[in-house]
Amino acid sequence: MKSGYNLIILGPPGAGKGTQADLLSRKYKIIHISTGDMFREILKDNQSELAQEIKIYVQKGELVPDNLVLEMVRKRLQEDDVKNGFILDGFPRTKIQAEGLDEILDSLNRQLDLAIYLKTSYETILDRLTGRRVCLHCGANYHIKYSPPKQEGICDRCGGELYQREDDKEQTIRKRLEVYEAQTKEIIDYYQNKNILFTVSGDLSAKDVLKKVEEQLSQIETQVN
Ligand code: AMP
Repeated sequence: MKSGYNLIILGPPGAGKGTQADLLSRKYKIIHISTGDMFREILKDNQSELAQEIKIYVQKGELVPDNLVLEMVRKRLQEDDVKNGFILDGFPRTKIQAEGLDEILDSLNRQLDLAIYLKTSYETILDRLTGRRVCLHCGANYHIKYSPPKQEGICDRCGGELYQREDDKEQTIRKRLEVYEAQTKEIIDYYQNKNILFTVSGDLSAKDVLKKVEEQLSQIETQVN
């Protein structure tokens, strides 16, 4: 089996990108890089200069400026643990970021194998996001209906407290979706034109999505060999 895939996963908030990226990262031993998680981590140190700069955008559900995101991703992709491959989740979100990513990968002599697009209905998105709860301590994700913790409000993995992300409240979800829709088409077109776009329904269960992506990756492998 080919390992060392370089992947990106695209789709609206609530499409299941994080879940799928986790599954794929375990299966293919590649690093899951979520720009949203990286920003939330930076915001934990409220005093840092970067935290001050990005706070306003993240809290309002608006996009952090491209140059800041690209700088952060460039540094991350240069780290040693990414050598066997990666799956980028929540990035790129704009055409400038997509072009910036190509430049970064060129400089590292690497290229993308597949852009996975989770096309998802509004009903699914709203249902998943309003029910999502996140561990304050380790970042693990739960859903009050579909994957509740054993004990309400407490993380199974580490015992940390679960909370609802400020930007998962209905008002902000609408804003995030507007932002997403305004930007997404050109990103999808960008990867379609490069012939590496793979579209799969984000309304399917995580298991079914994974199966379809695995099948697609094994086809790429066949073409390479
Ligand atoms: P997420 O967890 O991917 O929904 O990201 C949460 C928030 O982080 C977004 O609403 C943005 O404010 C910011 N963010 C994450 N990734 C990016 C990106 N690629 N470009 C700009 N802003 C981002």
